[in-house]
Amino acid sequence: IVEVRDLHKSFGALRVLKGIDMSVRRGEVVCVIGPSGSGKSTLLRCVNLLEEPNSGTVVVNGYELTDPDIDIDRARRGIGMVFQGFNLFGHLSVLENLTVAQRKVLKRDKAEADRIARENLAKVGLAEKERSMPAQLSGGQQQRVAIARALSMDPAVMLFDEPTSALDPELVGDVLAVMRQLAEEGMTMLVVTHEMQFAREVADKVLFMDDGAVVEEGPPAQVIGDPREERTRSFLSRVL
Ligand code: ATP
Ligand code: MG
Repeated sequence: IVEVRDLHKSFGALRVLKGIDMSVRRGEVVCVIGPSGSGKSTLLRCVNLLEEPNSGTVVVNGYELTDPDIDIDRARRGIGMVFQGFNLFGHLSVLENLTVAQRKVLKRDKAEADRIARENLAKVGLAEKERSMPAQLSGGQQQRVAIARALSMDPAVMLFDEPTSALDPELVGDVLAVMRQLAEEGMTMLVVTHEMQFAREVADKVLFMDDGAVVEEGPPAQVIGDPREERTRSFLSRVL
């Protein structure tokens, strides 16, 4: 459902992605790990065209995002994204955060948008918070609202960029539990994470990136449990 071929991205003279090939099949969970600055966020941002690649192709849900004639808003509709920061609208209630794009972009009427929003709030364990304002919630709760908001748009794939790295340690588990449940329900997910235990237990495939390239990929038991590449081993010895 996600196909990336020979993707290159530079910022000025800095070559950040040096020919990335990767794919995510429907229902698969792919985790991307690697040191700071290796290009993980840039890869994710190229997968929903928050960054424009210099060359290569990105196909998501049947749309070739790198085709200059693409209707980018329509193509992006199938992609849910959850970042490190929570990016909620601070002046809107939790429920309104979940319904505004459903109504504007998907043209759902208020009753349907509210119904879908409540379904997704219940799924992330926050049914009773629909009237709260984002500032009244903990970081972990805000991040779960951000997940529920993305889910309310019926994405074909969910992208996560270190969704737990800004959270206090005791709040990380709730967010990971929601992500784990989504994975079990068959959601297609591409997840940049430093949570090795999550990657090990939930991922179908792990990609280790270093210096703008995929150094090693495979099932977690191999890439995390028994890495072939020295660079992977040395990274894991620092984070595990
Ligand atoms: P981290 O684990 O710290 O989040 P990362 O693997 O996500 O790291 P990226 O954020 O993709 O790394 O950044 C890769 C490189 O690209 C870094 O050297 C970064 O400074 C540079 N970079 C990222 N975005 C920009 C930008 N908009 N302009 C210039 N340089 C950028
Ligand atoms: Mg990053």
